[in-house]
Amino acid sequence: MKDQEKRPRPLKSSLAPRFQKKLGLREKDPSSDTSLEDVEGLDTIYHALLEDAIAVSASDLHLDPGAEDFCLRMRVDGALHDAVLIPKTLSERMLNHFKVQAQLDPGPVIRPSEGWAEYQLDERKIHLRISCMPTVSGDKLSIRIFDAGRIRAEMTELGMNAKQSNLIQEWLGNIQGLFLVVGAVGSGKSTTLYALLNQLRKQTRSVVSIEDPVEYRIEGVNQVQVSPETDFDFPQALRSVMRLDPDDIMFGEIRDPLSAAAAVDAAATGKVLLSTLHSRDAVGAVMSLRNYGVKDHEIAALLETVVSQRLVRTLCDDCKKEVPVSDHDKAWLKSIGRKAPKTLYAAAPEGCGNCGGIGYRGRTGVFEVWRLREKEKALIIEHPAEQVLRQQVRDWGLPSLFDAAWNLLTSGTTSLDEIRPLCGFVAKEE
Ligand SMILES: [Zn+2]
Repeated sequence: MKDQEKRPRPLKSSLAPRFQKKLGLREKDPSSDTSLEDVEGLDTIYHALLEDAIAVSASDLHLDPGAEDFCLRMRVDGALHDAVLIPKTLSERMLNHFKVQAQLDPGPVIRPSEGWAEYQLDERKIHLRISCMPTVSGDKLSIRIFDAGRIRAEMTELGMNAKQSNLIQEWLGNIQGLFLVVGAVGSGKSTTLYALLNQLRKQTRSVVSIEDPVEYRIEGVNQVQVSPETDFDFPQALRSVMRLDPDDIMFGEIRDPLSAAAAVDAAATGKVLLSTLHSRDAVGAVMSLRNYGVKDHEIAALLETVVSQRLVRTLCDDCKKEVPVSDHDKAWLKSIGRKAPKTLYAAAPEGCGNCGGIGYRGRTGVFEVWRLREKEKALIIEHPAEQVLRQQVRDWGLPSLFDAAWNLLTSGTTSLDEIRPLCGFVAKEE
C-alpha cells in the first residue's frame, strides 16, 4: 500500500499493541509483507485483539475490507478510530476464525448473519455479538462487546452534580409515578436506569424489569426479556408482569401509542414505572407522550421525574492542554450568548500512552433533571405549546443540557468540540 496518504484518517496503532505484535506487523510499516508463517496461531491473535479492546474499553470492533487490506477499527467512548491495517491474505483466514467462534459459517458471507460468543478474561465473562455482512469489497465483520464489568451502575458515578443527585434521592425517598430517562441512542440511558435499579433493589420492594435485550444481569431484580418475534412484546410483557405483584417496573422503552398506554395503565394502578423515551430534552418528554395519545391530565398526574441526558468524552488528565480560545470560537460562543474564557482545555492531537493516543479517556453524562412540581403539573393541564412550557420551566429554574455541559467545559473536564453538538439546548438569553 503505497498510498498511505489516501487514508482519510491517521492510524491509531497504539490502541491495539498486543494484536499488532501478535500479527507480526511492524509498527512503522504496516504494509510490510507478512507471511503467514510469521504469525502465531489465529487463536492467539483473537485473544490479543480482545485483550486490547477490553484494555481501552472499546464497545465495538470493525474489520473493514478495503481494496488491498483490511482495516481494524475500534469504537472507544463513542468515536471510531482506525487502528491497524491487515494484509488481505492474512485477514481472510483471521475473519474465518472469528466467525467460527460465534458458530457462523466460516465461508464467504452470502447474506448478513450474526452469532454470539463468550470470552473469559480473568474473572470476567464477556459476551460478544459477531455480525458479518457482504460488501462490494469483501466480507465485513463487526464485534459488539458486552462487558458487564464496565457498566458503572452506581448513581454517584454517572456524572450528575450535587443538586441533580439530590433531586433523584428526593424521588427515591418518596417513590411514585412515572420516571423517564430521555435522550438519543447511545446517550447512556440504560446505564442510568441500571443505576436506579441498583438503588431500588436495596429497598424492600419487588423490582421487575422488561428489557430488549437483557444486557446486564442485576442480582435481586427479576429481569424479563421481550421477544417481538413471538409477539411477546413490551405491552404484553407488562400486562403479564403485573401479575407478579411488583412494586417497581423498569420498562425498556415507550416507543408507540400501545406501549405508552400500557405504561400509563401500570402507573395509574400505583406501580412505579421507569422507562426511556425519545425526546430532545426533558420538557420534550411531555410532547412525546402527547404524541403517543397520553392525555395532559394523565401526564400531570403520573409524570414525576424526567432525566434528559447525553454523553461527552472526558479529556485525558495526563495529556490535556490549556489553549487560548481562537477568535473563531470566541465569535461562535458570543453568537450563543456565552462569554468566552481566555483559555480552555483541549485534547492533545497525538494523545499519550495512557489514552491510547486519543486524548480522551472515558465519558461522563451531561444531565438535565426535571422534578415536576405542582405548578408545573398545573401548567401541563392547561395544554401549553411546547415552547411555552419549555420557557416557563427554564424561568422556574431548570438549567438546560448546555448549562450542564458548560460547567464540564469550564472545569476542564471536557473540550469545546465535545459540547458543541449541545448548543441547540442553550437557554434563551433575555
Ligand atoms: Zn493522554
